[in-house]
Amino acid sequence: MPSVPVRFPQHRYTVVIEPRALEHLGASLRAVATASSAALFVDPAVRGTLAPLARASLEASGYELVEHVLPGGEESKNLDSVRALYDVLLGRKLERGAPVIALGGGVSGDLVGFVAATYLRGVPFVQCPTTLLAMVDSSVGGKVGVNVTQGKNLIGAFHQPVAVLADTIALRTLPVRELRCGLAECIKHAVIRDPALFAWTREMLPALLALDADALAALVARNVAIKAAVVMADEKETGERAHLNFGHTFAHAIEAVTGYGVILHGEAVALGMLAATTLAASIGMCPGGLRDELEAVLAAAGLAVRARLPDDERLLAAMALDKKVVRARIRFVLPTRLGAVELRDDVEPSAIRAAWKSIRA
Ligand code: NAD
Repeated sequence: MPSVPVRFPQHRYTVVIEPRALEHLGASLRAVATASSAALFVDPAVRGTLAPLARASLEASGYELVEHVLPGGEESKNLDSVRALYDVLLGRKLERGAPVIALGGGVSGDLVGFVAATYLRGVPFVQCPTTLLAMVDSSVGGKVGVNVTQGKNLIGAFHQPVAVLADTIALRTLPVRELRCGLAECIKHAVIRDPALFAWTREMLPALLALDADALAALVARNVAIKAAVVMADEKETGERAHLNFGHTFAHAIEAVTGYGVILHGEAVALGMLAATTLAASIGMCPGGLRDELEAVLAAAGLAVRARLPDDERLLAAMALDKKVVRARIRFVLPTRLGAVELRDDVEPSAIRAAWKSIRA
């Protein structure tokens, strides 16, 4: 089975990537969780398609199952949902060693992962990501959490999963807009670490958008390997893990000023990477041609490369509120060439304004 090992000093796990990986869910868990019961939390979009596969596999391995369908949607990633999931687990007296499984996109993984991190001070957590973004990004690395009215992902924990099973047949039902959002994160990985992956992704975009099974499995495997390497080097984001935030300083401001969900996260990351690359080129950090290359591949993936945005003052104010602001300095992850990025917090406001202008419709 194609798999990527993830190793930290205190934990290790394997990301399995293949069509029908969910058929092995029960057997995979038997190797890491000996409890007699398990909890399966399901994204509503996959309740009729993937949940039966997961359930059958868990029951065949002898797990007594607590199954619950999540509300779904970013607006459900909050503390009210956390409490509701605690009630499900406490109501069924789920024991400490029992695995808690998230079957769904990044919203399900973050929410259920936070519950797993805190229920009985932490129980084994299993990620079964069903969106491209969740497969290549959110299911690997152990960040879990929820949103509060003050901002996104402000309450959370690091809680590494004990196993990740990315069943690539899930991508057959994914709306194309969500597929494109995942592609934006894959292009981000290529820009920060892997020029060969950038070229491969550009070439394979028609096959990927046509949901070619082999191409998608290869895309997921290569991207998981990058995400895993970055988080293994810096589990708690004290250094290079911040490179994964390429494009995000602009993206979070775009999401905040346009209202969450209008421009999806991956779409905002695509625009944010373009703005960041404009910024890098304008201060002489990277060749100007990099922006053109990036714009071409994002456009070929069907992602917007410009957007209607409010005035600069609102955008700059939104940037100043971001989590990544350290001692009142806005911190950017900027490319120096294809495959390498650096952190900068000494950028003039005029350069930031010019970067915003470059993506304004
Ligand atoms: P999501 O979980 O909301 O899924 C997107 C949509 O696709 C939802 O409507 C969902 O119901 C539906 N869906 C899921 N799987 C499907 C399938 N196989 N077929 C059809 N529809 C399906 O969004 P997402 O993009 O997967 O994740 C975004 C979330 O991930 C955000 O909350 C973000 O903060 C978080 N995130 C976390 C990390 C991390 O490291 N923990 C990293 C990146 C993003």
